[in-house]
Amino acid sequence: MTKTAKVIVVGAGPVGSVAAYRLAEMGVDVILLEAYPNCPEDLRASTLHPPTLEMLNEFGIVDDLIDMGLKAPVYQYRNRQSGETFAFDLTELQDMTDYPYRLQCEQFKLARLLTGKLQDHPHGEVLFSRRVLSVEQDGSGVTLKVESTREIETYRADFVIACDGAGSTVRKWLNVGFEGFTYPEKFVTFSTERPLEDYFDDLALVNYVADPDEWMVLLRVPSVWRVLVPAHDGNDEFIVSDQKKQEVFKHLINDPDVVTEHRTIYNVHQRVADSYFTDRVILAGDSAHLNNPLGGFGMNSGIHDVFNLTDGLRDVLTTGKGDHIAPLQKYERQRQGVMRAFVQAQTIKNKKALESRDADGQKRHQEELTAILADDERRRDYLLGQAMYKSRQLEASID
Ligand SMILES: Cc1cc2nc3c(=O)[nH]c(=O)nc-3n(C[C@H](O)[C@H](O)[C@H](O)COP(=O)(O)OP(=O)(O)OC[C@H]3O[C@@H](n4cnc5c(N)ncnc54)[C@H](O)[C@@H]3O)c2cc1C
Repeated sequence: MTKTAKVIVVGAGPVGSVAAYRLAEMGVDVILLEAYPNCPEDLRASTLHPPTLEMLNEFGIVDDLIDMGLKAPVYQYRNRQSGETFAFDLTELQDMTDYPYRLQCEQFKLARLLTGKLQDHPHGEVLFSRRVLSVEQDGSGVTLKVESTREIETYRADFVIACDGAGSTVRKWLNVGFEGFTYPEKFVTFSTERPLEDYFDDLALVNYVADPDEWMVLLRVPSVWRVLVPAHDGNDEFIVSDQKKQEVFKHLINDPDVVTEHRTIYNVHQRVADSYFTDRVILAGDSAHLNNPLGGFGMNSGIHDVFNLTDGLRDVLTTGKGDHIAPLQKYERQRQGVMRAFVQAQTIKNKKALESRDADGQKRHQEELTAILADDERRRDYLLGQAMYKSRQLEASID
């Protein structure tokens, strides 16, 4: 038997969960398909930026997220060699947002919160342990073949939104190019319950640490500190070995014997899909774009994608009238445009600033941060960029 819905969303990560829940709230019948038996307990993204919180406020869930997370109004750049610290305070944006902070809340908490609500929603259905295998479309809709624990099932929808992440099966079926590059080094995170704030003066909850020997990011989430470092050498077994862990924590706090809760390796890419839709099948989130995590833009951008997309398709989906191609072309122009001009450029710049190995490069970065902090206008402009308001402005400026 073929199961049908107006829209099928593939992937119950943060982006797919937001897309599906928003459609259900618009009154559109939606099925959300997830390959795993639950939203994966993924610690990758932990930062929600103010514009994203403003969007999620539409669902009345921000207080729940705040209860499950940590407010980080201040984030820092630290230079490990000079010892200098540069603190940026998002409270300065309180005249324009109710959320003048980064909310540190792991991505799986958002996904699980929304899939839980969607399961009880009259317009929503969440089906776990459903892995999409193939996608075919014709003039009136899209057919999916889906592997469940017992059989191969068939689904049919007017539209499919593919939020199935970096390795997107749907993107591959569409044969859409995913141009860009993969960094030669891997990124590894070690998480620990050790209170790292005891080892540094005034450590913020989010810290970008420049160091020509080993740059790092120190991020606090409610249960642990996460230490992100690049791994240039060695195979995966070495990268998560006790030896590597001991090197990292000896260098960080002069104590190699820190106990870790997780050790996770990531391949990191800068890539943007050549097109964001093919007729009735649409890409959003990591299936459409990837960037390094310095700045915390990936998941936030994916959520911005699906707000733009569902706004654009609202009339077509709720009235059944009008053509879907023009709104999807606008979605692509705006969201692909922002991804190329802002997110890719900013994340590449953020990484270069941290990893610079030459003394002049480090000095230039410190001088730039000092100058920005000293100048009210430049500081605000900088905060608007890093808090993703500028990406929203850019999106609105593209017709
Ligand atoms: C170390 C690190 C830190 C990061 N920190 C941040 C941050 O602080 N802020 C930020 O904004 N971004 C951050 N990111 C990026 C962020 O994690 C991603 O951008 C985000 O997870 C993308 O969400 P998504 O829902 O598009 O994809 P995913 O989170 O990858 O979810 C995809 C979902 O689809 C499912 N799926 C896959 N294939 C199928 C299939 N065939 N059928 C059915 N289901 C399928 C998967 O199981 C998964 O549940 C970070 C990334 C890394 C590596």
